[in-house]
Formats: sequence, C-alpha cells, structure tokens
Amino acid sequence: MLDNRQYTGCTINFMTTEVSYKVHKTVRNPEDQWQIIPNTQEAIIDEDTFNRVHELREHKHRYTACGRTSLFSGLVFCGDCGSKMYFGAANTMKPNLDFFRCSQYKDNRGGCKIHYIRNEVLYQLVFDVIKQAADFISQYEDVFLYLYNKEHELMIAKNLAACKHRVIANRNRIQDLDKLIARAYEDNVLGRIDDERYRSMTAEFEKEQRELKEQQKKDEAALKNASQEKADLHVFLNAIRECIDLKELNGTIVNTLIQRIEVFNPVKVNGKRHVPVKIYFTAVGVLDIPDEDEILKIMCEISKDKKASA
Ligand SMILES: [Zn+2]
Repeated sequence: MLDNRQYTGCTINFMTTEVSYKVHKTVRNPEDQWQIIPNTQEAIIDEDTFNRVHELREHKHRYTACGRTSLFSGLVFCGDCGSKMYFGAANTMKPNLDFFRCSQYKDNRGGCKIHYIRNEVLYQLVFDVIKQAADFISQYEDVFLYLYNKEHELMIAKNLAACKHRVIANRNRIQDLDKLIARAYEDNVLGRIDDERYRSMTAEFEKEQRELKEQQKKDEAALKNASQEKADLHVFLNAIRECIDLKELNGTIVNTLIQRIEVFNPVKVNGKRHVPVKIYFTAVGVLDIPDEDEILKIMCEISKDKKASA
C-alpha cells in the first residue's frame, strides 16, 4: 500500500488538485474467478441499511447570512486542533471564493491557525477521490474487500463466531461465580470454612468476575460495532457503485459516502504550499488505493487463501 496514511495522497495546493495515487487500468486479472471472497458479502444485506443511510444524511446544513451553503457543512474538521471548520460566504464575495476555516481561528488571537480552504477546491478534491474510489472498487471489488477485511478482522465470520461464543461462555461463568460466592458465604456462616479462607475465596471469585465483566463489555461493544460496520459497508458499496460515471456531487452522495474531512496546516513541498486533506469514507475510513504491483500481489494472496480454504 502507498504510504499515504498521513495525507491520504490528497495533498493539494490552492489552484489544482494532485491526487498522488493512480489506479492503472492495464492491470489484467490473471484469473476469472476473483468475484467473491468468502465470508465478506453474505449477511451484509440483512442489515437495516435504510435507517443507517438516513442517519448518515442527518448532517446539519447551516446557511450563511447570504443564503449560501456548502455540501460539506458539518463534515469538515481542522486536522490540527480537531474543531469544526466554519463555512464562510458573503454577498460581497463571489461564490467561488466561499471557504472553510478553523472555528478556533480568530485573526491570530484564537487557539488555532486559519486552515483556509476554498469550497470549490474541496469540491474538486472530494469529487476526484470519490471517482478514484469508484474506479478502483468497480474493477477490483475483491481486492478492496480483502484489504477491508484485513483492517476489520471481526468482520471475518470465524472471529465473529469466536467473539459470540466467548460472550455466552463468560455470561455463564459470571452467573456461576455469583453462586460460588453465595455458597462460600453460607459455608462461612455455618462454620464449614473459617473467615480467612472465606475472605481469600471470595476475593478470588470477585476478581475473576470483575475481569470477565470487563471482557464482556469489550466483546459486546465489538459485536455491536461489527454489525454497524457491516451495515455501513453495505451502504458504502451500494453508493460507490453508482459513482462510476459521476458527473457532479450532491448532498446524498456526499453524506452517504463521506464521513469526515480533515484539513491540515499547509506544508511546503518543493517550495510550493500544499494543504494536506484527509477524506474519510463511510465504513472504510481513509482509502489507500494500491498500485498495480500491489494489486497483483493481493490477487495472488486471495488465490492462495482460496486454495487453502477449498
Ligand atoms: Zn484548528
């Protein structure tokens, strides 16, 4: 994978957009049957995706005094201080100068720098990134899912099953420990065990119970997360497949596909000012698109996995 976690390959300057990754269309699929990766695609469809889309779309669009708004309102955050970025527009200003700036910036008196980015530049950037993602996923959905699964291990059915199994086993053990604690108390009252033995026994039981309860909380949260991730991935895939011939962005596309945009302080690259921007997709996060060699390597890995599980 390209090492672009830091800036998602979307380093831009104010005039043009440079997306540093490219999907090479000349990569040939060496086998016919790349279509389905085990345990990734089934079950996703069961989720209540409608509600999730609805939830994702509920970004507030604040209008400026002059009545203009941005598709990205509510989605843009300062990469350096984490605050929301405000959308700015004015009647005295041409719409192509509408901009975002860090809400903590107050003419150099506030807690942060301006992080200025024009709405138009952001539009082009998001448009390009969505197109690149659509291009990549439409050609190599199997590669995409393979990489996705690597990062979301719980999505793989056997991990999910193990987690569910542990939740049930731990729940039973927690109940058993309650009984053991009660019995130790009884034994102590009836004089069958002395106070010291009683104290050390219950301390042990309680310690085990505490640890199990903690693990239980983590597992339950992970299971909940996994089903949410599945639903979100389904939403993402459905929406991105529609973007292959994307002509322009609209609120539905942006709010369904984009979870968050972070704008960082400018950096100098070869003497030029660049504004690093990170774009997080719904369910997927920052999408690193592999290059030609990496795609071929991943295809070999998929093929090996298939043979191993056949
Ligand atoms: Zn800031």
